[in-house]
Amino acid sequence: MPRLAVLGYPVAHSRSPAMQNAALAELGLAEGWSYEAIEVAPDGFEPLMRAMAAEGFAGANVTVPHKEAAIAVADELSGTAREIGAANTLCFAGGEIRADNTDAQGLLDALPSSPRGAAALVLGAGGAARAVVWALLREGAEVGVWNRTELRSRNLCAELGGQPVAVPDPTVFELIVNSTAVGLHGEDPFDELPLEAGGFAAGQTVVDMVYGDEQTRLLAAAQAAGATVVDGIEVLVRQGALSLRIWTGREAPLETMRAAARP
Ligand code: NAP
Repeated sequence: MPRLAVLGYPVAHSRSPAMQNAALAELGLAEGWSYEAIEVAPDGFEPLMRAMAAEGFAGANVTVPHKEAAIAVADELSGTAREIGAANTLCFAGGEIRADNTDAQGLLDALPSSPRGAAALVLGAGGAARAVVWALLREGAEVGVWNRTELRSRNLCAELGGQPVAVPDPTVFELIVNSTAVGLHGEDPFDELPLEAGGFAAGQTVVDMVYGDEQTRLLAAAQAAGATVVDGIEVLVRQGALSLRIWTGREAPLETMRAAARP
């Protein structure tokens, strides 16, 4: 009976258990497999990670704040996880812990078309932004990075690539990705980010990694202007689909996962 889990702190809000258990049921695996949420504080993360295989876990997702710690504890890293410096997917097999990162490819899979050659603006310089910048650069986008704390965006670009942008003009970007936490707790994106509610246009694609029960203010404004919008749930579904394939070897049922992840 292989077990799966998402490890976070806090984790109660996670949509991953509903989404992954619906997928396991759709694939006819629910008799054998299960997916749960485990809340673990930073000081308990490493001991838990090391104990999971013996407790029947085949794999796990890792979320805030453990994605960097997962890299440090794992025995083996995928190239993506190593380069990004963060992991969101663990596999326990043969006494080893392998860490992978599906956030990067999940973002690319969520986009309506390839970002190759596109001028992209990434907002943020935390863990989510690192995966987004890495993914967009790998696909051949031209990436500008803005962050509230400028030093962090400069450091991120020095490490991964891309250009730090202190005062971006959002109208020149074909793709804008909010990878900050702005909006998560009701903050107004047009107060906190270098964006204007009336500044979007048709032809732009706007992604908001933040998601909640309703469409975010950022995406509502972008959609009203005719931009193509991608919400954080779609990104969550796509990274989860890739994790599920790593664990089970099966193609994930995307529609089922979307329906279960949406409120
Ligand atoms: P993180 O490492 O804590 O980084 C937070 C980022 O948000 C930093 O760049 C921070 O800027 C910025 N920020 C926070 N409050 C701000 C404010 N009031 N004004 C301007 N910038 C602000 O978090 P993370 O792991 O990167 O996650 C960021 C968001 O992405 C979270 O909301 C998370 O839920 C979401 N996410 C979604 C998915 C998905 O699948 N949809 C996956 C991963 C993450 P400073 O450097 O200046 O503090």
